[in-house]
Amino acid sequence: MTRTLSATASPPPASGERIAIIGAGATGTYTLEALTRTGAAREIVVFESGDTCGPGLAYSEQLNDPHALSNIAGIEIPPVVEPLNVWAVRQPRGRLDAWGIGDDAGNDRAFFSRVVLGAWLADQFTLVVERSPIPVSVHRQADVIDVVALPHGCRVNWRDGAGSAFQDAFDRVIVASGYGPITPKGNGAGESAGKAAVHIGVLGSSLSAIDAVVGIAMKRGDFVERDGRLVYVAETPWRATLFSRHGLLPEADFWFPHPLPELEHFTPESAAASVRGEDGDLDRLFVLFARALAAADPDWAKTIGLADATADDFAERYFAERQARGPWAHARTNLADVKAWHANHRTPAWRIAILKAHEVFAEVIPALSPADLARLHAGLKRVFTDNYAAVPHLSIERMLALHDAQAVDLVALGKDYEISPGSGLSWLVRSPDWTGRVDELIDARGSQAAALNHFPFPTLRLQLCASALAEGEDWKSGLNPAEDLTCGTDGDVALKRVHLCALPFLLRNRPFVQGLVECAAMARAMAESIRAEPSEASASISTMDLLEMLDQPSISLADGAVLPIAASDEQLETATG
Ligand SMILES: Cc1cc2nc3c(=O)[nH]c(=O)nc-3n(C[C@H](O)[C@H](O)[C@H](O)COP(=O)(O)OP(=O)(O)OC[C@H]3O[C@@H](n4cnc5c(N)ncnc54)[C@H](O)[C@@H]3O)c2cc1C
Repeated sequence: MTRTLSATASPPPASGERIAIIGAGATGTYTLEALTRTGAAREIVVFESGDTCGPGLAYSEQLNDPHALSNIAGIEIPPVVEPLNVWAVRQPRGRLDAWGIGDDAGNDRAFFSRVVLGAWLADQFTLVVERSPIPVSVHRQADVIDVVALPHGCRVNWRDGAGSAFQDAFDRVIVASGYGPITPKGNGAGESAGKAAVHIGVLGSSLSAIDAVVGIAMKRGDFVERDGRLVYVAETPWRATLFSRHGLLPEADFWFPHPLPELEHFTPESAAASVRGEDGDLDRLFVLFARALAAADPDWAKTIGLADATADDFAERYFAERQARGPWAHARTNLADVKAWHANHRTPAWRIAILKAHEVFAEVIPALSPADLARLHAGLKRVFTDNYAAVPHLSIERMLALHDAQAVDLVALGKDYEISPGSGLSWLVRSPDWTGRVDELIDARGSQAAALNHFPFPTLRLQLCASALAEGEDWKSGLNPAEDLTCGTDGDVALKRVHLCALPFLLRNRPFVQGLVECAAMARAMAESIRAEPSEASASISTMDLLEMLDQPSISLADGAVLPIAASDEQLETATG
């Protein structure tokens, strides 16, 4: 265990809260920075299961292939202490060349590999700790194993790298544990197929899937520049088939003005005013969205028949031409188009309008009814994700080179497909348009929403499940916290001391929450709410507090099961299914 104390010249402030941050990935790093700046805390303790603070899973050097690119450029990444490109230009030339960004360090429209963002985040974390006006303790290789929220404070139980158990008390806890603890063995990201497999199946076709395929390609051959074009030369024979529901590739990143211009008719205010918290909100929002789109780009609106479109069939209209053209022909045309738009800063207005509209939708989605939320996931979400998750040009160039070399293909599985294990590591894939066997299958579908019964800390999980039950909410759909990322009713002072920004549990109700922009926005929202409404500070938890909790030693679930408050993992798994 490494313990780092910030250098604080003056004595620590007597007022403010003692706050724990669980997880030092991007969200934990932005949160630490926001808390040290707002003066809401008198002391902060960070727990990180890995060796390094800052990168988290997505940008870790150990877990990510050096060729895997991020899909966000410096211009969009919120600075921590300094912006990505300002940091990049002060790195030694040798380091920049090793990352392949020697000539691009200052270009805030360039996409860097994910490990570069990881190095930036690690340095930013160190700078935040060094510059903090309040004491910050950092426990690395420290696994938090439980959190208990009590009316007068929170208890955190954790283990250090040697397996010794500890307990500490806080006024408040911020759960920024993301995709789970990073262990030396890795979490699966960036894993690639064994060397022996000749035909590899890859589930998914987004940037994660492209990264997985490029990782394999680099191990079994090389990309070379020929006549101004990227070409793939294989050293050993292999091929990969990407399987996705619709058989589409992501589009290449397009130029857009930053910040994005406001939309006519569809603003956060007009969207909020049309939401009543009942079925039909999605249709009301769609009317505003369609009006804004038609105003921004009337010609495009006519070509897709926007006047007759609905929230449920818009996605079909949006993807129709691309689907008809096929993924590879579309990728080639789209790449040529986006390069021209980047050169002359003239992207079609409808694309920029959809990009802005996704930000407006993101603010009101948590208020949608379950039925409207399900409709959004089935249709419009695909459109927004397609638009904001456009990928680096190089990623598409690499895919085209692999396809031209007959190393990679893409299959649309449709709705009715079956994937079952064959002999050894092989898998059988059956779908209406493609049936066959692959030697190995990689799941590269990217981040998936998680249900609350998989929440990592057993006592807090039980408290959250009980609170969801009391509110009549379905815990299978994850968390739907308030703007300050706390759950529970206003009277529930214990749960108001815990902020929940572990992404997989938020994804169902906030489908656009992943990404660095959102990590920083959550950090700002939490720090601001803590500054505005500090809880009564009492970080030492008294015996009376525990007795108060033991007053209600068990919780009755809807199916009649009675659970003791300090239930074991196994009990919870069984009870919550
Ligand atoms: C493969 C991948 C690629 C991505 N690429 C991009 C991209 O290009 N652009 C973009 O904007 N977004 C991208 N994202 C989205 C990304 O999720 C966010 O940008 C961000 O990195 C999430 O950070 P986080 O801190 O919330 O979670 P994580 O990165 O998961 O970090 C959580 C941290 O908490 C620690 N932790 C977990 N549990 C415990 C515990 N019990 N005790 C102590 N510590 C614990 C972990 O060790 C980890 O360091 C990507 C996501 C993935 C998975």
